[in-house]
Amino acid sequence: MATHRPSEPDGISLRLPSPVVELHDDRLRPHDVRLLLKRDDLIHPDVPGNKWRKLKFNLAEARVQGCHTLLTFGGAYSNHLRATAAAGRHFGFDTIGVVRGEEHLPLNESLAFAAGMGMRLTYLDRTTYRRKTDADVLSRLANQFGPCYVLPEGGSNALAARGCAELVDEITEDFDTICSASGTGCTLAGIAARLRQGQRAIGFSVLKGGGFLNDEVRRFQREAFQAETHNWSLETEFHFGGYAKRKPELDSFISDFEDRHGVVLDWVYEAKMMYGIFARVASGSIARGSTVVAVLC
Ligand SMILES: *Cc1c(COP(=O)(O)O)cnc(C)c1O
Repeated sequence: MATHRPSEPDGISLRLPSPVVELHDDRLRPHDVRLLLKRDDLIHPDVPGNKWRKLKFNLAEARVQGCHTLLTFGGAYSNHLRATAAAGRHFGFDTIGVVRGEEHLPLNESLAFAAGMGMRLTYLDRTTYRRKTDADVLSRLANQFGPCYVLPEGGSNALAARGCAELVDEITEDFDTICSASGTGCTLAGIAARLRQGQRAIGFSVLKGGGFLNDEVRRFQREAFQAETHNWSLETEFHFGGYAKRKPELDSFISDFEDRHGVVLDWVYEAKMMYGIFARVASGSIARGSTVVAVLC
């Protein structure tokens, strides 16, 4: 396949540092807990939050390596595929999205968006997709698409964890606990690595059986920072059935939250974290008098 030069970047403007706003909620006051939202979801409508932070140092590295094409992996509803497609368009990279499973036409909204941003989509059956990082699968993709900078699924690697750590530097308010939703654990690894003494991070797993994320967080920390920290923990009870699964209880929490605060929580990640935070405040396991930061991506 002939490669063409990526289109010129169109000069994206990112809202950095992202805003921090206090959430006033009657359910928190009796427990004397302050809740601040770190609005990483407002960084850019096409390249939200931690997806941008994960890409930042990887795009720089791709440039250093002289790669004009990003290749990455995801399910058909992957936020990461969308974000990579948009970042590629805005920063002048060609993009290839390797999608798990068969092609379904018409494309769903997520993949249609990615394709609209110029991403070339290709599909791997589920068995091959599971082996996507094996040498034979990668070399087949390289033969098909030419030399590419390969981003792992979810965009999570050591450079991504370092990018996520930067969000902590942007918070000027004092806080005790910082919370994020966890899919791969990369964001949690980066955040925890940058905290000050006495501060703690909590990751809310959006996956069922999220206990394996403990090892993943440690691995990301070793790879990115050559050290593990012991200032974080994972909550694994708030997955609502598993990744991209929802329950009526979660849906009513989302609509109630929107009524109260005018903020629409994303149900795959943010809503599960926020539900978990309110549950932990109510049960008293988040200490009285503490200030909590919730990261929206
Ligand atoms: C991708 C994503 C996450 C998951 O981050 P990990 O680093 O994979 O744990 C959390 N929240 C939102 C909104 C996301 O889009």
